[in-house]
Amino acid sequence: MNYDNILREIYEEVSPLVGKGKVAQYIPALAAVPPDKFGMAICTLGGEIHSIGDAKENFSIQSVSKIYALTLAFKLLGEKLWERVGKEPSGNPFNSLVQLEYERGIPRNPLINAGSLVLADILLSELQDPKKTIIEFVRKTAHNPAINYDNAVIASEKITGHRNFALAYFMHSFNNIRNPVDDVLDVYLHHCGISMNCIELARSFLFLANHGVIPDTGEYVLSKSEAKRINALMLTCGLYDESGDFAFRVGLPGKSGVGGGIVAVLPEKLGVAVWGPGLGMYGNSLAGIKALELFTTLTGISIF
Ligand code: GLN
Repeated sequence: MNYDNILREIYEEVSPLVGKGKVAQYIPALAAVPPDKFGMAICTLGGEIHSIGDAKENFSIQSVSKIYALTLAFKLLGEKLWERVGKEPSGNPFNSLVQLEYERGIPRNPLINAGSLVLADILLSELQDPKKTIIEFVRKTAHNPAINYDNAVIASEKITGHRNFALAYFMHSFNNIRNPVDDVLDVYLHHCGISMNCIELARSFLFLANHGVIPDTGEYVLSKSEAKRINALMLTCGLYDESGDFAFRVGLPGKSGVGGGIVAVLPEKLGVAVWGPGLGMYGNSLAGIKALELFTTLTGISIF
């Protein structure tokens, strides 16, 4: 497979969409990101790295980070995790409050904001220094010890993150948030505020393409069955209320963020990451989804 040619073809075909859509407005630090950026990277289990465009430029990974939090919380609690959070697609926006009332404070799945706030609460209860554990895990899986939190983005979101505070207080009333809300938000907003590029993101998801083992070091992260479950959740819930459309068009498990990043995994082969800050109506990168659709169409490979 000539991935460089495929990336070039995608880059050309996707160009009419680059700069289209809306950069996330509700986080002031993200509203300032130029909308016409586009990068894409492929990292294979065999160690090949291919990239194009702005693939080496850092951006705010936002909800892509929920996969790191989920991996760590699943490792800590095992099957008990599913007593605190569900595993069904929500069919609702990522920051929705309504479903929580009907379902008595148990979020539909770990990848909507409410679910990830529960993960942050679990990490706070189980770990001495969750922010340190999270960033060290990301550095290890991405093979870059310099990856860090972007404090300007974190501070910016802390000021405007009223819905996330509301979700956490609401779940506190159902005893599904057990630590002080400010502490839970601090952990959650920190992992959303990690700054990375496409190459690092694609590489850091390779343990999910490799049955739970980091390919180049052989380090065990998750069991084969646990890795399968996280991939299944990405496929069904990773793009919120656009997850069905993403599975239909792309056919890979993926996770998006409002920073415009999307990472997808092809089990036993590769990780692929895209970045295009212009978002569609569900908060997912417009150019990013198109690029991944072209990727599986041009290569003829998907999980199906
Ligand atoms: N930090 C963002 C929020 O909580 C993450 C949302 C996202 O990337 N979809 O609203």
